[in-house]
Amino acid sequence: MNKSQIEELKAIFGESDVLTDVEDMVAYSYDASHAEIRPEAVVFARTTEQVSQLMKFAYRQKICVTPRGQGSGLSGGSVPLQKGIVLSMDKMNKVLDFDPANRLITVEAGLTTSEIDLVAVEANLFYPPDPGSVAFSTIGGNVAENAGGLRGLKYGVTKDYVKMMKVVLPQGDIVTLGNKCVKHVAGFNMEGIFVGSEGLLGIMTEVTLALLPIPEHRESALAIFTTLDSAAQAVADIIAAGVTPSTMEFMDNATINAIQNFKDCGLPRDAAAVLLIETDGDENAAKAEIAKVEIEVKKNNCREFARAKTSAERDTLFAGRRVALNALASVKPNLILEDATVMRSRLPEMVRGITDIATKYDIQVGIFGHAGDGNLHPTFLIDMQDKDEMARTEKAVAALFQLAIDLDGTISGEHGIGLEKKPFLQNQIGGEGIALLQNIKRTFDPLNLLNPGKMFDMPAEQAA
Ligand SMILES: Cc1cc2nc3c(=O)[nH]c(=O)nc-3n(C[C@H](O)[C@H](O)[C@H](O)COP(=O)(O)OP(=O)(O)OC[C@H]3O[C@@H](n4cnc5c(N)ncnc54)[C@H](O)[C@@H]3O)c2cc1C
Repeated sequence: MNKSQIEELKAIFGESDVLTDVEDMVAYSYDASHAEIRPEAVVFARTTEQVSQLMKFAYRQKICVTPRGQGSGLSGGSVPLQKGIVLSMDKMNKVLDFDPANRLITVEAGLTTSEIDLVAVEANLFYPPDPGSVAFSTIGGNVAENAGGLRGLKYGVTKDYVKMMKVVLPQGDIVTLGNKCVKHVAGFNMEGIFVGSEGLLGIMTEVTLALLPIPEHRESALAIFTTLDSAAQAVADIIAAGVTPSTMEFMDNATINAIQNFKDCGLPRDAAAVLLIETDGDENAAKAEIAKVEIEVKKNNCREFARAKTSAERDTLFAGRRVALNALASVKPNLILEDATVMRSRLPEMVRGITDIATKYDIQVGIFGHAGDGNLHPTFLIDMQDKDEMARTEKAVAALFQLAIDLDGTISGEHGIGLEKKPFLQNQIGGEGIALLQNIKRTFDPLNLLNPGKMFDMPAEQAA
């Protein structure tokens, strides 16, 4: 970008909200995946109007813009593939309206997810989607990735809570989509198309979200298993028995030991796998459900069903799960974390398949994740400097995605496609599916300037 273009950015955002120093560009060159490309400038939006002016400027000057929340994405979504401008949304972080009577909250897109709960709790409400990154990801990033989390099994994912949004379209127009009513079918479900759009179709600046009453009671337990298979089968059986826990998280032996080495959370180092299970609702219902869970896990040779007796005990168990990724990251220099997902009934096959793949390609793997959703995070623990191991890992990742597809599952349950899974999307949705995505992208962004090269290539890029 030239000097006059930078000056124009400063005129829109103010001197201190435009960065161009090399050190700053390095800081905005990556997310939590492995991609790394430096932008030419970073700007911090504080108003929707600034975002609109930026996109008008970008369209006039044909400069690419990559929206960014907190850069915690695991698929490379906020990495500026074509350089240009990174638009950081994290300074748009105000709560605009809290409406407990209608169980709604309207926030700016850069607000950290967990901060929504800090407001909601005042009226005994909560925001159910609960990604492991809840303490640092932004709600805009969650909407753009349709983030899931630890409560997805019972409460669903981000898309189930988005009611309304303000969006800046690629050419700078500002639109308000959706409605605060419980029901709204006037026109296409346009807010829906932005959920999971990975910053390719527009920039969310405000979002209205539904909230729920905090459940009266919770029952939490750790089910300890001596085989991987029995833990996976227990998940399928619990669902088949008609129980819907709010949380059912899986951790295998490698993950358990990584966590214990990282932080003592009281997990059994000798277990093949554990399930962290929580039921909630009114006290009788939560207790009745955890009792049914206990019956199902015991049918599957659960060695021990340890109920949390205090909220401190429960918090320790959940803390273990929340540090799983950081703990695995400390085992080897690098990791590749995936989020292939299958129907719950196919979870035992998926777990077996993942271990077979790791054995075949001789790669260390830790498996954890939202088992109740069929959404596992097989995490390959590797050293990227080791060329031979990297080559084997690439084959293992491809085999993993193929396994998910063969089991009628999906290559991504919650982290999105971005750069990391782009080569595999066609296998999942077919050539016609890719063509439809390209047409939609072209309609919103005819010059392909907003986060180009993510999820799929546009035909011109393929030719290049
Ligand atoms: C330790 C850890 C645990 C995690 N646990 C989970 C989990 O349990 N479940 C889960 O789903 N994910 C999880 N993630 C992944 C990640 O936190 C989510 O994808 C999150 O939604 C990303 O939010 P962000 O603000 O960091 O967005 P970024 O990473 O900055 O951006 C993600 C994508 O959204 C786009 N984007 C960001 N803001 C906007 C906006 N306002 N308008 C339009 N597009 C925008 C970006 O261009 C990019 O494509 C985890 C990540 C880490 C590091």
